[in-house]
Amino acid sequence: MTKKHAYITTAIPYVNGLPHVGHAMDYMLADVWARYSRQNGREVRFQAGADEHGNKIAAKAASQNQTPQEYVDQTHVNFKKMIAELNISVTDFIRTTDAHHVAAVQYIWQKLVEAGYIYKGSYEGWYCQGCEAFVTDKEAADNNGVCPDHQTPHISV
Ligand SMILES: [Zn+2]
Repeated sequence: MTKKHAYITTAIPYVNGLPHVGHAMDYMLADVWARYSRQNGREVRFQAGADEHGNKIAAKAASQNQTPQEYVDQTHVNFKKMIAELNISVTDFIRTTDAHHVAAVQYIWQKLVEAGYIYKGSYEGWYCQGCEAFVTDKEAADNNGVCPDHQTPHISV
């Protein structure tokens, strides 16, 4: 009989702020599922980590006269500490700046380039820097052009 497996992960937080109850809730829910799966004989990989790239990380690092790497080297520890203090049973904690993660992403990226799935182009639209996401024309116009989550104006890029 083959052993059953379970792959469990959480949202990968940006480390430009301190962990909060929303992060704790995410990890605790995933931990319940991981422990339940183990009790039922599954081999569990419970993956956690930190997203250490993006405009918000770069801006926060610059505001503290640090490089992004210097900044995330300090701040990711807050999330690892929360995981330890809550006794969350993670298998691994991967940072997007970890060398093995970078190598894996570059490998996949190159395969996609070779297959023609990645190409240079241009795109214009409405963007929310807080969400780090494009929004539709309707979303950009709603709420007087202000993001309801961040209370910042959408910008045209
Ligand atoms: Zn937003």
